[in-house]
Amino acid sequence: MKIFTRELGIAATNTFLFCNEETGKAVVFDAPEGSFEWVSEVLEREELTLQALYLTHGHYDHMWDAWKFREEGIPVYAHRDDRVFIEQAGAQGKFFRNAVAMKPVQVDSWLEAGEPLVILEEPCEVRHVPGHCPGNVLFYFPNLELAVVGDAIFAGSVGRVDLPGGDWSILENSIRTQIYTLPDSAELLPGHGPSTRVGREKTANMFIRGSTS
Ligand SMILES: [Zn+2]
Repeated sequence: MKIFTRELGIAATNTFLFCNEETGKAVVFDAPEGSFEWVSEVLEREELTLQALYLTHGHYDHMWDAWKFREEGIPVYAHRDDRVFIEQAGAQGKFFRNAVAMKPVQVDSWLEAGEPLVILEEPCEVRHVPGHCPGNVLFYFPNLELAVVGDAIFAGSVGRVDLPGGDWSILENSIRTQIYTLPDSAELLPGHGPSTRVGREKTANMFIRGSTS
């Protein structure tokens, strides 16, 4: 698996393009503003075919360009608990001033926690990690020891919980039970900022400490 990363949009949101170099197929995780153009460039340059767009959650900065992908026939996947944010125009404009002009998108398939997916021939486990918002999910690839985690946790920090549907105790429980239970060596790719590892966050994250195994 080869991974291309780009930080895009007003909130400096990470978008990840995963590709299987043998099959020439690719998927995208999160679609900030400008991601459609960037992804299109990479697909053309690397001669890849896009299969799907996975949203870690429904906040505007992670799905601004999602409608563009769907208009091109790319199926969009997300968790049902963020349905209002994703599918209803103006739902986030009430609390994200920047989201007023966001175009909603229809989700093609709702992800279930624990659902065993196969993405680009790789097994992938979906874990529900609410707290930053109701529908944040992570995508864990056990063979790669790698997870795309959205805004649940960042290198040295955690997602904000002051937005509608945010809750500190839920976030803490999500991180302890769904993220700190991954292998210490597992790499975490957050929605903002650099990547990190589970073991590093357990010892160095000032917000939520975990016991290392
Ligand atoms: Zn968010």
